[in-house]
Amino acid sequence: MSGCLFCKIIDGGIPAQKLYEDDEMLAFSDINPMAPVHFLVIPKKHVENIFELQAEDAALAGRMILKAREIAKERGCEEKGGRFIINAKTDGGQTVNHLHIHFLGGRALGWPPG
Ligand code: AMP
Ligand code: ZN
Repeated sequence: MSGCLFCKIIDGGIPAQKLYEDDEMLAFSDINPMAPVHFLVIPKKHVENIFELQAEDAALAGRMILKAREIAKERGCEEKGGRFIINAKTDGGQTVNHLHIHFLGGRALGWPPG
């Protein structure tokens, strides 16, 4: 979608530190990391947020979660874990309106969120 930051990353118009890419998803490091390990997994098709996911997207969503877990493992976060997060809309603090899974790890994270 034109004007979407993450669609521009997918199209190569904006650079990113890519960690994984296939036909349907892309993973890249967050530009403003909140933890020693902080990356995002996004679908290549523009989906605004988790509320816009459709039933036919179920397999894609599942593969994105498993890929986030795989990259977290590769980055040394399996033993101590971390957090898989999907912010949504205004109350969720979503700032980029293209669905993304955050993974944060490499330090102990506080709970509850502020
Ligand atoms: P959210 O607040 O859940 O919408 O998260 C959006 C995330 O995208 C934030 O953690 C930003 O730091 C990250 N971000 C914004 N622009 C870029 C970019 N050009 N490359 C990588 N990450 C970005
Ligand atoms: Zn987009």
